[in-house]
Amino acid sequence: MTQPLMAYVNNGFVPLDEACIHIEDRGFQFADGVYEVVACFGGAYLDLMPHLQRLQRSCEAIAIDLPKSLVELQALVQQAYEKNPFEDAMVYIQVTRGVAPRAHVVNHAMTPTLVITVRELPKPSDEKLQTGAKAITMQDIRWKHCEIKSIALLASVMGKQEAVKQGVDETFWLDEQGHVLEGCATNVFAIINGVLTTHPLDHQVLGGITRTMAMDVAKLAGITTEERPWKLNEKGLTECMMSSTTNAILPICHIDGKAVGAGKPGQHTLNIRTMMLEKIDALRAHG
Ligand code: PLP
Repeated sequence: MTQPLMAYVNNGFVPLDEACIHIEDRGFQFADGVYEVVACFGGAYLDLMPHLQRLQRSCEAIAIDLPKSLVELQALVQQAYEKNPFEDAMVYIQVTRGVAPRAHVVNHAMTPTLVITVRELPKPSDEKLQTGAKAITMQDIRWKHCEIKSIALLASVMGKQEAVKQGVDETFWLDEQGHVLEGCATNVFAIINGVLTTHPLDHQVLGGITRTMAMDVAKLAGITTEERPWKLNEKGLTECMMSSTTNAILPICHIDGKAVGAGKPGQHTLNIRTMMLEKIDALRAHG
C-alpha cells in the first residue's frame, strides 16, 4: 500500500484526502492570506529560515499574527516532511486570517488558519535544460503589492494559462514602459554586456529567495550584478534566465517567439546554475 500523504491543518496532521478548511475561511472567501514554498533535498532545506522570515514579513504586511514562532514553524515543516514519502520535496505553507462570517471588515481578533502540505519537488527536465525554456510577455495586470507573497494569484494563474496556451513555459510581466519585472512564479535576469541584471526589489516584484542565491553565486563567480529596470531590446543582451525554488536557475532561450542571444543556454547562465546545484549537493551531503 502506498503511504498516504499527510497535511498539517491548524493543530495537527491528518491524511491529505481528509484535510479540510471551513468555507468561511477568509483565504477561500477573499484570498486573505499569504504563503511560502520551500525546497527540501533529502532532508536538508534550502534557505528554510529566509523563507520563514519572508512568511513573517508577508503576514506583518497584511496584519495577520503568524500563529507560530519561526522555531515552531521550522519543527512543523520538518514533521510534515517526515510524514510524507518524498526524498526531494516541496513544502507549502499557507496562513490565512481565519474563519469569520463573510464581511470585508472584521473587527475582532481572529485565529489564523495554518496549513502545511508536502509534494514531490518538481524539477526541470534534461531536455528543457538543454534547449532552454520559452516565455512570453504580458502587461502586468497584478496588484501593486507584489512584494507580499499573497495567495491572491488570479492574475498569475491567467498569465500561466496564457503561457500554456501558447506552448511556452512562463509569462514575464512588463511594466507600462516595457521593463521586464518578473515571471508569474519566477524572478527574471538578463546578461547585458556581461552584467547579471535584474529588476530592483520594489512593490512590483517578489524578493525571491533563489534570486538572492543566484546573485550571491554570480558574485562568487566574478560576474558583476546590477539591479535596475531593463528591457528585452537592450543592446548587449545575450542571455536570459529565471529563478525559483523549484527551478533553481533555468535558461530562457526564446521570448515572444524570438531567440534570446544565440537561442541556446549561455555560459553565464550555465555557470550560475552549476554553482547553485553544487551548493544544493553540498547541502544534501552535509544536511
Ligand atoms: N516571483 C514570484 C511572483 C513568485 O511567485 C515566486 C515564487 O513563487 C518567485 C518570484 C520566486 O521566489 P523564490 O525564489 O523564493 O521561490
